[in-house]
Amino acid sequence: MALKESQYIWLNGEFVAWNEAKVHVLTHSLHYANSAFEGLRAYPTGKGLAIFRLQDHTKRLLNSCRMSLLNCPYDAKTLNDAQIEILRKNTFAPKTSVYIRPIVFVGYGVMGVYHLNSPIGAAIAAWEWGAYLGDEGLENGIRVKISSWARNSVKSMMGKAKVAANYLNSQMAKCEAVEAGYDEALLLDSEGFVAEGSGECFFIVRDGVLITPPSDNSLESITQDTVIKIAKALGVLVERRRLTRDEAYMADEAFFTGTAAEITPVREIDARAVGDGKRGALTKRLQEAYFDVVYGRDARFADFLTYA
Ligand code: PMP
Repeated sequence: MALKESQYIWLNGEFVAWNEAKVHVLTHSLHYANSAFEGLRAYPTGKGLAIFRLQDHTKRLLNSCRMSLLNCPYDAKTLNDAQIEILRKNTFAPKTSVYIRPIVFVGYGVMGVYHLNSPIGAAIAAWEWGAYLGDEGLENGIRVKISSWARNSVKSMMGKAKVAANYLNSQMAKCEAVEAGYDEALLLDSEGFVAEGSGECFFIVRDGVLITPPSDNSLESITQDTVIKIAKALGVLVERRRLTRDEAYMADEAFFTGTAAEITPVREIDARAVGDGKRGALTKRLQEAYFDVVYGRDARFADFLTYA
């Protein structure tokens, strides 16, 4: 799906025209993949666009920078203000959800793996972006393949850092799944326990209990945390424990969560129907409740929204 361009991008403290937001081909991050980024959504509410959990995303961005030795020249307030401002500067079609992509990267000027002498840049872009795994997927569920790729090992990579380098693993898993005719990949960790999707966390429902792995081998997902909070508010029993492949095959319901993927039901895993092969009843309830929260219709979670 082609990217829907907007008008301005924030680049190193300035708003520049979309087509002028450029970096040099010898930008260090392009070669060695140390760049920290985020993905946020802003939803159209009765009071205009509201960014979902802005402060939490910025905190994770700065933590990713800290873990990856990226000395971000901008503090949380500057980054938060710039994300609000990028929504105000650009014109978006009414009633569309907007995706925000901040990135902190190692810039141009020094080559070689050692990066601490290189300049650090930052950019924030925002564009209209619909359902990541398709509207059809949101309603009827998607088909998932357990990947032949293990999720990056905690001994080798920092899965809690949202850094570009982790996404070669995601990308290979996603491509493998799509080329095999599936919609998304589910990656196990090197011990065989469920880690996460290529860009989502994973939940199952068994006998009415909602189960999702701890963040041992995954990003600390903001959507996963939101879904757990919503489920608890609905009185649903939630367990955070390791899940095995066979338990995923036995699930009554399964779904992925992520800022981009929102709550996407999984209707099939490796040619096995999940439950009765349709979106499950609890999945639907959680989806509706999630959309109430992000669209500003649930006062209990009003603190999660920052209006632009
Ligand atoms: N895992 C990975 C690998 C991801 O890229 C994402 C998307 N950011 C997630 C999980 C879900 O995280 P969040 O809910 O914070 O978007």
